[in-house]
Amino acid sequence: MIVFKENIYKKIQKELSKNPEFECGGILGKCENCITAFEYDKTGSNKSKNIYFPDVETLNVILKTWEKENINFCGFVHNHPNGSAELSNGDINFALKIINNFDNIDDLLMGIYVVTPDCKNNNLVWYLVRKDKVDKIYPDIIK
Ligand SMILES: [Zn+2]
Repeated sequence: MIVFKENIYKKIQKELSKNPEFECGGILGKCENCITAFEYDKTGSNKSKNIYFPDVETLNVILKTWEKENINFCGFVHNHPNGSAELSNGDINFALKIINNFDNIDDLLMGIYVVTPDCKNNNLVWYLVRKDKVDKIYPDIIK
């Protein structure tokens, strides 16, 4: 079971709703099974309407700081300005590339912030990508 700290969940919603027309996103970090960190990817975001390319160099710096705080990188979250609640093939391939390249990563949490036309019903959906399957998951949110 994956659990989010409420303040982190709100931070994700806040950051990703700032620019609903462009793809933007960030990385997620956890302690045990609780997501306790989210870093908005300023430089990787807002470059395209169709795809979010993380800024790997900048994010690597964040990951190093997280390591010192015992926070483990566990996934990505990005918005879909087109309103699709599904992971694209590109999203899945991107996740698999990471899983296949890092021995210590068996699965990746992939969140999508689904943008609705009026922006009033935007919501977050979550998937857990493993080597052999992708599952939709429903995380808990705790204070
Ligand atoms: Zn996507």
